[in-house]
Amino acid sequence: MSTVYAYAANSATEPLAKTTITRREVGPHDVAFDIHFAGICHSDIHTVKGEWGTPNYPVVAGHEIAGVVTEVGAEVTKYKVGDHVGVGCFVDSCRECDNCKAGLEQYCTGSGMIGTYNATGRDGTPTYGGYSGAIVVDENYVLRIPDSIPLDKAAPLLCAGVTLFSPLRHWNAGPGKKIAVIGLGGLGHMGVKLAHAMGAHVTVLSQSLKKMEDGLRLGADEYYATSDPDTFRKLRGNFDLILNTVSANLDLGAYLGLLAVDGTLVELGMPEHAMEVPPFPLAGMRRSLSGSMIGGIPETQEMLDFCAEHDVTPEIEIIQPDYINEAYERVLASDVRYRFVIDTASLRG
Ligand SMILES: [Zn+2]
Ligand SMILES: [Zn+2]
Repeated sequence: MSTVYAYAANSATEPLAKTTITRREVGPHDVAFDIHFAGICHSDIHTVKGEWGTPNYPVVAGHEIAGVVTEVGAEVTKYKVGDHVGVGCFVDSCRECDNCKAGLEQYCTGSGMIGTYNATGRDGTPTYGGYSGAIVVDENYVLRIPDSIPLDKAAPLLCAGVTLFSPLRHWNAGPGKKIAVIGLGGLGHMGVKLAHAMGAHVTVLSQSLKKMEDGLRLGADEYYATSDPDTFRKLRGNFDLILNTVSANLDLGAYLGLLAVDGTLVELGMPEHAMEVPPFPLAGMRRSLSGSMIGGIPETQEMLDFCAEHDVTPEIEIIQPDYINEAYERVLASDVRYRFVIDTASLRG
């Protein structure tokens, strides 16, 4: 076992504070790596604040993790010391069910995916995430970060990147497809960049036109304010795919109306409360309402390789660990362009 520094939440109301945690001994199939950067995902905040149920405190959040391998177990074949690697939202799963076998570990029906934090690992100990100096993970749940992607920019790809990549691939985003992204935040801005890189026609639907210049620079072809009722008249029946990255409740009927025949609206933002689905806009154009959650290990690797090939990386603001609590406040106020990434050097000490 090794002891590393971490930033932990001890309750829903206290600020995160520096502490120490232990990491397990490196087993035969394990990869140990120094964490260099960890992204701050909105899910981290929901979890530590107990908004998705009471977590198992202390919580060391962080599931957008990038670093450099320091040790590998005797049986490890995929990685060696010095490799650039990452870990996303889960560190294990049952490995036996049909979904695991198909590389859809995020939809594991056996044990369920074992979260990178606030879960219990195979060895019975709690899992702790990326707001820390180092981590030990089974090689099958470790991703290779291509050399051309700097580690700080690689971190947010492990959750925000694949959350958008997976539905874009599943619903065949590409040339000739009209895609809309609702919300230009941490998730949305990756949606714009990825859909653009795939060759699709990309429209941002944002509450206001405040970030329009950014949106167009990041690859959007069009940009509309959803506070303007004209937007919904003008874009009626327009899109093949709409990706909703907003975690607030929306008027689903209005957005479904923007889909073309056979179009699909995909929920990615996970609002806390249920939303009403009016049947007429669904049936009228044979539209679908769906959802999607991160991506499996093979698809996450495919996403990283795609981002390297197409030079797609997130817009980030690097912070020190002692700024995490302020960063949380700023995420809640949508005051970040577009992802906070923690430089964890001081936690490696
Ligand atoms: Zn996340
Ligand atoms: Zn499984």
